[in-house]
Amino acid sequence: MTEKIVIIGAGAAGIGAGLALQALAVPFVILEASDRVGGRAYTDKTSFTTHWDQGCSWLHCADVNPLVSWADKLGAVYESEDNSEKALFWSENHWLDMPERSSVHRHITNRFASIYATAKQGHDVPISAIPDHDGIGAVIAKTMVQLMCSDEPERASAAGYADYIDTNVNWVVTSGYGDLINRMAVGLPIRTGTEVSAITYRRGGVSVQTNSGQIDARAAIVTTSTNVLRSGKIDLPSGPVQQLLNLIEEVPCGTYEKIAIALEHYPFDPLDNEAVWINPDPGINPVYFQIARGGQPMLIAHVAGSQARDLVNAGANAMVDFATQNLTTAFGSSVQKLICGTAATSWQTNRFIQGGYSCARPGAGNNRRNMIDLDTGVIAFAGEAFSLPWYGTAHGAYQSGKDVASRLALHLNLKKSNLNRYLALFKQ
Ligand SMILES: Cc1cc2nc3c(=O)[nH]c(=O)nc-3n(C[C@H](O)[C@H](O)[C@H](O)COP(=O)(O)OP(=O)(O)OC[C@H]3O[C@@H](n4cnc5c(N)ncnc54)[C@H](O)[C@@H]3O)c2cc1C
Repeated sequence: MTEKIVIIGAGAAGIGAGLALQALAVPFVILEASDRVGGRAYTDKTSFTTHWDQGCSWLHCADVNPLVSWADKLGAVYESEDNSEKALFWSENHWLDMPERSSVHRHITNRFASIYATAKQGHDVPISAIPDHDGIGAVIAKTMVQLMCSDEPERASAAGYADYIDTNVNWVVTSGYGDLINRMAVGLPIRTGTEVSAITYRRGGVSVQTNSGQIDARAAIVTTSTNVLRSGKIDLPSGPVQQLLNLIEEVPCGTYEKIAIALEHYPFDPLDNEAVWINPDPGINPVYFQIARGGQPMLIAHVAGSQARDLVNAGANAMVDFATQNLTTAFGSSVQKLICGTAATSWQTNRFIQGGYSCARPGAGNNRRNMIDLDTGVIAFAGEAFSLPWYGTAHGAYQSGKDVASRLALHLNLKKSNLNRYLALFKQ
C-alpha cells in the first residue's frame, strides 16, 4: 500500500509529526511497534489505585513549553508553580536545617553556572572535569547532573549539556503527562503492534518493511530513541543516513529509572516540599525521591546512570528493596509499615526504548547540532535527541517531530493550496 509519509514511532515526536501533517492535510500513517501510544510518556493506571508517570512527568521550561497550551486545551491538570527548590535533605544522620539547605541550593546553582561557563569557553570536556568543592552540595549537584544527563558526568559533554536552554520553570502534570500525550494522539492514524525492521529507497520514495508487510511512501520520519537506532534493529540505507548514525553513536541514551513506593500516609508534611533527598553514605550517590501529587501518597525514587543500570539488571524486587532501604535510613524502620504498594520501571530493558534519554559524549558536544543540520532527504529523523534547546524532553521531542514533518511536507512539494496552512503552522 502507498502512504504519503510514514512516521515510525508514536511517542511525543511521532505524535507531533502526525499533528503537523494532519494540519497540512498531508496523508500519513504512524507505525508503533509496542501495543500502546506514548513511548517514554506513559501514565501507569494499573499498578496502584492512583496513576503515576513511569516516564516524563514535568513540563520543563513550562513558561515556553508548547505542550502547556495542549494541556489547557485538553483539560490536563498541572501544578503551575515551580517548587523544585523545596526539598528535604537527609545526610550524615540528620535532616539539614534551613541554612544548610540554602547552602546546598547555592551550590547547585553555582555548579550549573560553571557547566554553562565552561561550555561558553568552547571546552568540550566531561562535566566531571570541571572542578568542584567537596560536601553535600557537591554530591547532590553531581546526582542532579546525572539525572539530567541520564548518565554519569564523566560520560557527558559540558558543551553538549549547555545546548539546553533552561528557563528553570518546571511544572508537574498531576493528571499524568503520558495521559496528556495519549489524548493529543486521539484520532491520528496509528497502527500499534507494527514493528519496522528496514527502510529502503525506491523510485519516488521509500519502502518501509514491517512485521505486517511492506508500506511504500514518498518519505519516512524515524522517531525512535538513539539507542534503538544504535542497536541496528532498523536496517537503514547507506549515504547520509549512515553519516547520521555515526553522529548518533556518540549521542546515546543513558539510563533513567523510577521506583514508586505508595504509602498509607507521608512520614512528614508533604505540603511544604516537592522532594526528599536521602544521602545514607557520603561516598555514594544520594537518592532523589519525588513527592507524587494528585492522588495516593507516594514517594518516587529517581535513579540514573550505572546505578540505574545495575538496579534494572537486578530486577524489580531489588529496585524496591533499594528504595525501601533508603527510606528506612532516613525515616526509621516504621516507614516500612506504611508501604502499601510498589512498582518499578525498566526503560533500559524495553526493546523499543533501550534507555533514558540522549546525552552527547565528551568530545562530541557538537554532534546533536550536526544531527539536526544534516539533510538525510526522504528518510528524516526526529525525537528528543533532535531538539537542541529542549533535548531529552517530551516537549523537545514533540517540537522536533512537528518541525521535521513540516519541512518534509514542504520538500515534497505541497500543493499551493496547502502552503498557507504551512505558513500558519509555523506562526503557531
Ligand atoms: C524515567 C524518565 C523520566 C523522564 N522525565 C521527563 C520529564 O519529567 N519531562 C520531560 O519533558 N521529559 C522527561 N523524560 C524524557 C521524555 O520522556 C522523552 O524525551 C520523550 O518522551 C521522548 O519522545 P520521543 O518521541 O523522542 O521518543 P519515544 O517516546 O521513545 O518514542 C519512540 C517510539 O518508537 C517506538 N519504536 C521503537 N522501535 C520501533 C520500531 N522498530 N518500529 C516502530 N516503532 C518503534 C517506541 O515504542 C516508541 O513508542 C523522561 C524520560 C524517562 C525515561
